[in-house]
Amino acid sequence: LARVQAHESLGAFLHVDADAALARADAADARLAAGQGSQPGGALIGIPLAHKDIYVTADMPTTAGSKILANYRSPFDATVVARLNEAGTVALGKLNCDEFAMGSANENSAYGPAHNPWDAGRVPGGSSGGSATAVAARLVPASTGTDTGGSIRQPASFTGITGIKPTYGVCSRYGMIAFASSLDQAGPMARSAEDCSLLLSAMSGFDERDATSVQQPPQDFHAQMLQARDGATAAQPLKGLRIGVAAEFFPQGLSADVNSAVRQGLAELEKLGATLVDVSLPRTELAIPVYYIIAPAEASSNLSRFDGVRFGHRAEKYTDLLDMYKKTRAEGFGPEVKRRIMIGSYVLSHGYYDAYYLQAQKLRRMIADDFQQAFAQCDVIAGPVAPSVAWKAGEGSDDPVKAYLADIFTLPGSLAGLPGMSVPVGFGEGGMPVGLQLIGNYFKEGQLLHTAHALQ
Ligand code: GLN
Repeated sequence: LARVQAHESLGAFLHVDADAALARADAADARLAAGQGSQPGGALIGIPLAHKDIYVTADMPTTAGSKILANYRSPFDATVVARLNEAGTVALGKLNCDEFAMGSANENSAYGPAHNPWDAGRVPGGSSGGSATAVAARLVPASTGTDTGGSIRQPASFTGITGIKPTYGVCSRYGMIAFASSLDQAGPMARSAEDCSLLLSAMSGFDERDATSVQQPPQDFHAQMLQARDGATAAQPLKGLRIGVAAEFFPQGLSADVNSAVRQGLAELEKLGATLVDVSLPRTELAIPVYYIIAPAEASSNLSRFDGVRFGHRAEKYTDLLDMYKKTRAEGFGPEVKRRIMIGSYVLSHGYYDAYYLQAQKLRRMIADDFQQAFAQCDVIAGPVAPSVAWKAGEGSDDPVKAYLADIFTLPGSLAGLPGMSVPVGFGEGGMPVGLQLIGNYFKEGQLLHTAHALQ
């Protein structure tokens, strides 16, 4: 708690509740004194963490980084939060993020930006920027994030930490404020694949309150991570693992420093016994227009609930109901959220639906099919997370399209619903960290964690 306060200027936290945290810590101490720490599922008892402010919490405010939810308090905890509480973690507070998780730099938060601890003049990535900053600055050993189009993987890469977005449906979305429901997925951000595996085991699992939750028995991702491969040796733990390398993930626009760090990571995987195979993901570039049609379309629908009646902010002066809606939303939403509501409403409107939304849905399926072709030849796909290291603060805010283009390597896996992670692999320009992205087939989180663990 003292360290959180000492580094307040990083902008990682939106809310800290010291008293509640200390009370949780006392409860954890009691569980540890009763010997629960060495029992199955006891590894997280007393571990401090913090939650992205997109998860609703009953005992702390929830803003989603938006003015429209200033001072909002939820009557219940998100399933992910409730499960981590039950596991004995000690939540210190809520973490900064882009407004409704829309962004790649944490500069779209209504409560100010978060800063990259490696260089405070640079962005930590987004939208889970506060979650990444808090772990990278060692304010907490772990945090929760959400990933719709890269928001766990890209900030993990920009801040030199490890993050995993599981297969769509593995973690419950109940109580995770919706941005694009067919893409949103929860995941942990921490210092290592090992820490992520422990958190993911606690966070995941079927939840009847989320209609897209996968009916899967509880998973022990830590055991899966440790599971030795057939034929593996101490020197070659990845023996027999086929790593797919797609030329489309190494285009002209990839910066030289990221390229060389990622190539070194691939060479490291080879030394650990893996074989590199060429695969093709021909529709990689199309993932950008497809995502920036589907995500805003779903957002425009999801965000219609913020109408000044049910949640948070309501305009003070208005003439009638329609005027109240208009003023509330004009005052409450920031520019990026408004832009996406307008794009989404447009692509869903009569006459444009077939031309944009329907086409995007067809391409989404083709992108997912391309991955299945690639996975016929390999077990894990490896490549960059983002085309560059963390950029300087303010550089992306003037041109939203530039920021959208930087999502190129994380969007294809998101559209396909595949698990993906970012593992620190080296350093690039300005001494900034570079992450290696590992993408697995559906429900292969254990294999991803095993691969990342071998690298670490
Ligand atoms: N950068 C992407 C966007 O702005 C992804 C965000 C996310 O994953 N929440 O939509």
